[in-house]
Amino acid sequence: MSSTLELTQQLMQLDSITPRDEGCQELMIARLEDMGFTIERMPFGDVSNFWAHRGHSGPVLCFAGHTDVVPTGPVDQWQSHPFHPTIRNDHLFGRGAADMKASLAAFITATERFVAARPNHAGTIAFLITSDEEGVATDGSVRVVEALEARGQHIDYCIVGEPTSDQVFGDTIKNGRRGSLSGHLIVHGIQGHIAYPQLAKNPIHLAAPALAELAAEVWDDGNEYFPPTSWQVSNIHSGTGATNVIPGHCDIKFNFRFSTEHTAETLKDRVHQILDSHGLAYELHWLLSGNPFITQPGALTDAIGSAIHEVTGVETVLSTTGGTSDGRFIKRIARELVEFGPINASIHKLNECVSVDDIEPLSRIYEKTLLKLLA
Ligand SMILES: [Zn+2]
Repeated sequence: MSSTLELTQQLMQLDSITPRDEGCQELMIARLEDMGFTIERMPFGDVSNFWAHRGHSGPVLCFAGHTDVVPTGPVDQWQSHPFHPTIRNDHLFGRGAADMKASLAAFITATERFVAARPNHAGTIAFLITSDEEGVATDGSVRVVEALEARGQHIDYCIVGEPTSDQVFGDTIKNGRRGSLSGHLIVHGIQGHIAYPQLAKNPIHLAAPALAELAAEVWDDGNEYFPPTSWQVSNIHSGTGATNVIPGHCDIKFNFRFSTEHTAETLKDRVHQILDSHGLAYELHWLLSGNPFITQPGALTDAIGSAIHEVTGVETVLSTTGGTSDGRFIKRIARELVEFGPINASIHKLNECVSVDDIEPLSRIYEKTLLKLLA
């Protein structure tokens, strides 16, 4: 069995449902200590995090990722137990297989081979690992980054092990992510008997034209790296349940996925403009989960792109699609940041899996990237 496959299975046996780590990080730390890494455990609240480094000069290449996994859903609907990693049809099944324990194992075995061959490598290799990426993400990478930033630690090249491959292993790396901005809008009306509408104010009727205008708005056209900004309603709730009552308020939740053509502030301003133009009485509570970020093509995208091609023969493309990741926090201290990992078709689903044939090549790609940037 390949050492990467073996370590992937060891990590998958630990039921590290977010934000628990269940010993995953100590498994990684033991291997890193054997390679001469300096380890700093940085727990915050219930969350386990660590920063590790080997080397004292630049450039700093950091492998970043998370040991936590999303909940399993109904265990009896899995074909094999989510925390008993099982190989069927050349795929390794279990929670965290693709997101992202295979990547964590590949980081370790890639580094082991690299360090064994080049004990006096150039630059610094670092690891930034958290157990709070899939949950609220308040005590994870964001806190570690704050601590590193406060002491002037920066990263030149950061590789996040998120599963980014789409159709074929190696076909996609993410060189940025869209921003995510949520709003909770409460439109106020006046509750009343539905037979006496002149004595009430229907908040659904008041909100509808404003929502139509927001839904039709062209926020931007995107740019070279980002698709157009999109605004979507996720929830609307109103009404008392009775058919003869005009409700007193209407609750609407919405979310922006936005490009670098906008900032959270410019989007907020435009939403308020539209709501105000409809004369609504409303409250609006905002939550910014992440600003958009981008890494321009350069040394890191070239290194990992050519490593992917050498190992798999696949021409990779740069993409900024998909949800948010901890890249949004780490980019603050990282000059160049990309995400690359296995095929993401099964992540967060029942019967999550990774192709066994992709696991060792993933480790080879990370190793070749180290060779290109730190040899
Ligand atoms: Zn993930």
